Amino acid sequence: MRPFLAWLTAGLVCAYAAVLHHGYWEKGKRFNDYLKEHGVPLSILQGISKEDRVYLSEIRSRYPYFELLDTNGTLEQALIPISKEMQISLVRKRDGNYTFDIIPIVYTTQQHTAHIEIVHSLYRDIVAQTQNKSLASKTVRTLKGVIDTRRLHKGDTIDILYRIGIRNGLVHGEAELLAMRLKQGKEVRFICVDEEGRGCIDGKRRERYTVTKRTKSVTLKRYVQRATQGFIFPLRHPVVTSSFSYRRWHPILHRYRPHHGTDFRARYGTPLYAVADGRVSYAGWMRGYGKVVKIRHAGGYESLYAHQSRIRVRRGQRVRQGQIIGYAGSTGRSTGPHLHFGLTKNGRWIDPMRVLGKGKRRIRTKRVIGYKDIPVIRYRTVTVKGCEAKKRALMQALRQEERVKLPRSSKLSIPIRK
Ligand SMILES: [Zn+2]
Repeated sequence: MRPFLAWLTAGLVCAYAAVLHHGYWEKGKRFNDYLKEHGVPLSILQGISKEDRVYLSEIRSRYPYFELLDTNGTLEQALIPISKEMQISLVRKRDGNYTFDIIPIVYTTQQHTAHIEIVHSLYRDIVAQTQNKSLASKTVRTLKGVIDTRRLHKGDTIDILYRIGIRNGLVHGEAELLAMRLKQGKEVRFICVDEEGRGCIDGKRRERYTVTKRTKSVTLKRYVQRATQGFIFPLRHPVVTSSFSYRRWHPILHRYRPHHGTDFRARYGTPLYAVADGRVSYAGWMRGYGKVVKIRHAGGYESLYAHQSRIRVRRGQRVRQGQIIGYAGSTGRSTGPHLHFGLTKNGRWIDPMRVLGKGKRRIRTKRVIGYKDIPVIRYRTVTVKGCEAKKRALMQALRQEERVKLPRSSKLSIPIRK
């Protein structure tokens, strides 16, 4: 009668002359098939919301489902678990149609103790004693987290306090481990189990936490030292093809002419750099120079970059040393792409090679001291909440067992299917 009362408390309508039946859902069985078997019109599926429809594929084979059938075998009601806490409810209405709902599962819990003596292996001995495989695997898993289970020997004992759900007289869901007492020889240890199934010896657990620590860091920073004095070369790989000269045979004019500058080998499009900081004094076409840029620098210097294919600065523009001012080419009076570079000091042509390259860029390193916050992992021992109560419950149960002198096993009298 008790299961039937529990059935009623689950909030269901009473049906006279009905038979309560329970079963375990076959793995892979579909809800549709269940409805077909019982002649429930599939049209009820259309009334189920999208969110609820998801649960139809989550019916658990571990938990028993219940059916209430009338004398003709017509399904009056069904309760089918989709989790430990929720179930599908099918109820037949007077007009023969069914209602579908998802409702909480009503179940009670019972606390039990099991006394295990190691004979074969921890797992096997627990299953032999309790017929509960999930309890056995949970116990093994929990113990492995806190002790070296390989050191368990024949004759060692474990007392386990655990809780199971009972629904309509059947075990509902997995066992919940609460506490253990482990006796290895003369050593007795009490292990408490928290909600997440972690074991803690004597109710204490080492907990990981992080603190941020401010640390000093020294880094070497590379930086380019600006050449404030002296000139750099106007192109990356300077190769002189014709030097500064006051008297040179001119290949195009076929005459002796002064060569007021230095010719550098350059491919078409080679970037040309300002040899020093300055201001562009000319940018454009100029007689034999073709496309040319002139830059005025401090100290009475003026540099000239001739035969460019393209100019990248405007007259009056400030330029920094090393800045690209144009690209090599062969405009003006030129026999092929090259850079004709000229330099004047106070209006007089000078040999550029006397001053170029002196302001070579130097890469230096600097020690930079900084501070960084880095996470540091620390451990502390914490007292796990509720452990004392679990320990007391276990001790009390053990004392009671000894007083009543029950057989040391606490086998359940209710059917368990695992
Ligand atoms: Zn030249």
